[in-house]
Amino acid sequence: MYGYGGMGHYDIHTEVIMREQWLRFFSKEQMIRVQEVIRANGMDGLYSEFGLLFIEPSAEASAEPIVDEATRKMTAAFRRSESTPWGFGGVHSCICGAASEAHDYFLPGGWITNSLCIHYLAYHRDAVPETELQKVMHLGSGMRFPRPRELKRASPQEFKNRAIDAIRSLEHFG
Ligand SMILES: [Zn+2]
Repeated sequence: MYGYGGMGHYDIHTEVIMREQWLRFFSKEQMIRVQEVIRANGMDGLYSEFGLLFIEPSAEASAEPIVDEATRKMTAAFRRSESTPWGFGGVHSCICGAASEAHDYFLPGGWITNSLCIHYLAYHRDAVPETELQKVMHLGSGMRFPRPRELKRASPQEFKNRAIDAIRSLEHFG
């Protein structure tokens, strides 16, 4: 894992492999823009223009998943995704307890998303802005019904961990 901060493993060989990976997901025109936004605003620039579904729901997961055209389009595209070569310090978890992975994913069509993208559409639809929903509706990988593990509903253990985290964060306030 290369990480945001330490590019310790970075060398010309890595660069060639990374470039090939980018080009599997982004057009040449998109790559020019990617370089511009990274130069101007770093990774924030990249995510603000090419990020898909980086949201933080503030309400509980719905009881049943919504598996409509949007969720199915996201599922089909996500099955063709690849993990980004950079990662984050730790895992992030959704308000409902569902854990996301420590890295993001490239999606066909020139997007970067996170491992909870299907989960957000299925269980937190009210938190998905219309602009993000429109991007999803334009994904061009067809439609697939998600499997239960792709929906990433929080497991009872994740749900419990969430409660423990909440108690710990309260302890900081004495
Ligand atoms: Zn959730």
